[in-house]
Amino acid sequence: MQPDFNHLKSQLEGDLFIDNVQRVLYSTDASQYKELPLAVAKPKTKDDIKKIIAFAKENDTSIIPRGAGTSLVGQVVGSGIVVDISKYMNEIIEFNNW
Ligand SMILES: Cc1cc2nc3c(=O)[nH]c(=O)nc-3n(C[C@H](O)[C@H](O)[C@H](O)COP(=O)(O)OP(=O)(O)OC[C@H]3O[C@@H](n4cnc5c(N)ncnc54)[C@H](O)[C@@H]3O)c2cc1C
Repeated sequence: MQPDFNHLKSQLEGDLFIDNVQRVLYSTDASQYKELPLAVAKPKTKDDIKKIIAFAKENDTSIIPRGAGTSLVGQVVGSGIVVDISKYMNEIIEFNNW
């Protein structure tokens, strides 16, 4: 059964796309691999990410965290929910000295 993405969308501050254009755009990265994801999420907050993870678990699907998509062997290609953190979650909050 198709997960109820409209319900998830209504809970997020960020964006959620299930249209074919976004899914095709996110079906590949800098690699040669290609796989159509179920959906593309662009979270705005930590809470958004928690909700996406909970939703993926409830619906027995996966999440694929994505930054710039420059990984070279298909790391951000998959059949679950691509979670693009580069649109809204793009501030450096702190530096840690090791
Ligand atoms: C032309 C070119 C040259 C390169 N040269 C080098 C090089 O010299 N040295 C080198 O080390 N690498 C190199 N790379 C690899 C590239 O730098 C790394 O793949 C890049 O750092 C990944 O960052 P990204 O934000 O694009 O992540 P993505 O490609 O989006 O993701 C990479 C991995 O990190 C995960 N991920 C992304 N964001 C998050 C997040 N917020 N939380 C948890 N997991 C996350 C993804 O799921 C995926 O598994 C090169 C890539 C290209 C295209």
